[in-house]
Amino acid sequence: MNPISQLRARLPQPLRYLADLAYNYWWSWTTERLSLFSIIDPNIWQTCNHNPVALLESVSYERLSQLAEDPQYLKRLQSLTQQFDAYMTEQDTWASRAAPQISPERPIVYFCVEFGIHESLPIYCGGLGVLAGDHLKSASDLGAPMVGMGLLYRQGYFRQRLNRSGWQEDYYIDSDFDHMPLELVRGEYGQPITVKLSIRQRMVRVQVWKARVGRVDLYLLDTDREDNDPIDRWLTGRLYGGNRETRIAQEVLLGIGGAKILQALEIEASVFHVNEGHAAFALLEIARQEMEQTGESFYDVEAKVRERAVFTTHTPVQAAYDVFSADMMDSFFADYWPKLDLTREQFLALGARRLGDPWEPFGITVLALRMTRTANGVSELHGRVSRQIWNILYPDRSEDEVPIGHITNGVHVRTWTSPLMSDLYAQYLGEDWSRQIVNPELWAKVEDIPDAELWRRHCILKERLIAYTRAKVKQSRLDRREAPDDIAAIDRLLDPKTLTIGFARRFSPYKRGALIFRDFQRSLRILSNAKRPIQLIFSGKAHPADDEGKRIIQRLMEWCRHPTLRDRVALVEDYDIHTAKILVQGVDVWLNNPRRPLEASGTSGQKVSLNGGVNCSVLDGWWCEGYQASANGTGLNGWAIGEDMHTSDQEIQDQIDAESLYHILETEMARLFYNRDANGVPQGWVKMMKASIRSTAPIFNTDRMVAEYVTQIYTSDNSVSITPILSSVMS
Ligand SMILES: *Cc1c(COP(=O)(O)O)cnc(C)c1O
Repeated sequence: MNPISQLRARLPQPLRYLADLAYNYWWSWTTERLSLFSIIDPNIWQTCNHNPVALLESVSYERLSQLAEDPQYLKRLQSLTQQFDAYMTEQDTWASRAAPQISPERPIVYFCVEFGIHESLPIYCGGLGVLAGDHLKSASDLGAPMVGMGLLYRQGYFRQRLNRSGWQEDYYIDSDFDHMPLELVRGEYGQPITVKLSIRQRMVRVQVWKARVGRVDLYLLDTDREDNDPIDRWLTGRLYGGNRETRIAQEVLLGIGGAKILQALEIEASVFHVNEGHAAFALLEIARQEMEQTGESFYDVEAKVRERAVFTTHTPVQAAYDVFSADMMDSFFADYWPKLDLTREQFLALGARRLGDPWEPFGITVLALRMTRTANGVSELHGRVSRQIWNILYPDRSEDEVPIGHITNGVHVRTWTSPLMSDLYAQYLGEDWSRQIVNPELWAKVEDIPDAELWRRHCILKERLIAYTRAKVKQSRLDRREAPDDIAAIDRLLDPKTLTIGFARRFSPYKRGALIFRDFQRSLRILSNAKRPIQLIFSGKAHPADDEGKRIIQRLMEWCRHPTLRDRVALVEDYDIHTAKILVQGVDVWLNNPRRPLEASGTSGQKVSLNGGVNCSVLDGWWCEGYQASANGTGLNGWAIGEDMHTSDQEIQDQIDAESLYHILETEMARLFYNRDANGVPQGWVKMMKASIRSTAPIFNTDRMVAEYVTQIYTSDNSVSITPILSSVMS
């Protein structure tokens, strides 16, 4: 029996369908998501990290029987069941009309090293993963035939705790796949489907799990099997853990293992989408399979592989983690290049920026650019930066002619819009608003929402954010065994009436998490202004190996304890998708101050706009395209930090940007926020909230993004043709 039937059998008859819902993440983007499962048992729901399968398995039968005779609950369940059935069987989808040539029999295969679908599936670390999750969700909603391919990490990304000195401590928690919305993929006789591949001169057997994301199946590779060497069982242990050697081993597994699994599952891809370089080795295995089937040489099949493969780059620098030394390539591929009938030199040349330079390391982005028919960056600015970086691969072309375009990232609107706001949109934009989100005229109707109503709902979400922050900070203080006075002080932490700025993302140094405190005295004055105070909520992890990032967190923790700031600066530990949702839905302002142009796109600010929050950001990534100013240069839908002043001197740039940020906070933001009408509604502010929603929602969403991938990348035959660089390698 498959796990869905097993769970079904455990449930009282009228609730059986909950099993089907629990095993498909579709439920997580319905407007019913807040109560459907939580109402069954709020405590278990919280402790199992919102994993519906674990919930249904552990809740008492008594409670289930009670629900099985609750007419309200049954009615809701029935309505949801009908919606789900209609969704899963819908024939007339956007993609069936716009791209009938992509058939479910020959789907697009989307490779990525991390996927952020939901907090209960912790196999993501940040923006790349959440983007990949949102990509699959919109592909499902639009009816684009797609499957995802990734790795199932036993311990996922690390968990964060901060000790008394504010230093980040990392720990890991084992996932129990058997009690998650995952199915081990089995063959006809019930045996797990596996493939074998050689990694570090050992045979590794790989099994595969399936997570359902609406109509899209996400396949996740797993090496944690008893018949593998103990070291190889750890291949899928942790996301971005270990050293360079672990990294290349995981990339070999994802690429080559992923392509082999597709063959074992008999999935014929029409397009392979390599999302960021980690999966680029897949292109080699696809070539090898093609050679095996046709008997042709690598040189012959290389063009065919390229015809079916596309690449998205997310990196705005030539990163060290993007390349592997020749030694390392030898130890992983010495038994592989003979299968491609290539010599060592020919093989290594596939990843060399400059041909014929024996000291060139092997670049996976280089491999991906060479072996795909089209490549794109993730915002307009990032496209430009990528053309500049990779011009080196196209020495006879000018920068403008480098064949890398861009498709700007978005977010999955139905996931990131709070149900309270969705409900408002349903009232004023129309019941089916969420199916027409790319239509700007629809969003113009935001102006019809009464100011007081929009403000009231925003205030509810902000109160929830503050209650959540207090509860989390309290738990952290208890965990650290802080003094009773400090724990009692939680009740004074943050004030729902105060202008609230959120900053949450990875604490990579380039994101400059502490910029707002650069001139400490000045920031003190601004935050503790008696008439117009400001409070800050931070959240985010630093990579375990990133001491500089950890020092930024430590400094923020000092400020959280500063006598003047202790009630108005908070840091929420252990950032994840759940915390992200509460933050982006509840803040007044979202602050983003990376070193330009290092934020390839960024997406968290887009989530904020959907919920009526306002962005205050450096003009980097998507905000370059999203920000709108009036003729006299003041922001209409948010603020631009540092405007267009850019220098390569980091100190000076930090100075310029901090100065600009202070200026915005002092002269514009707080004044606009605290300027209230007779009913206490900040009309100027609400106007900006509406501008933020209207200008962002129709464009910076994954429906628009996936539609562009479908029409411009997956099905387009006018993709940029790249001079076959490989032919020169082969000769
Ligand atoms: C959206 C999201 C991100 C991306 O954040 P950026 O600041 O845009 O890079 C990272 N982590 C989580 C959990 C998210 O939800």
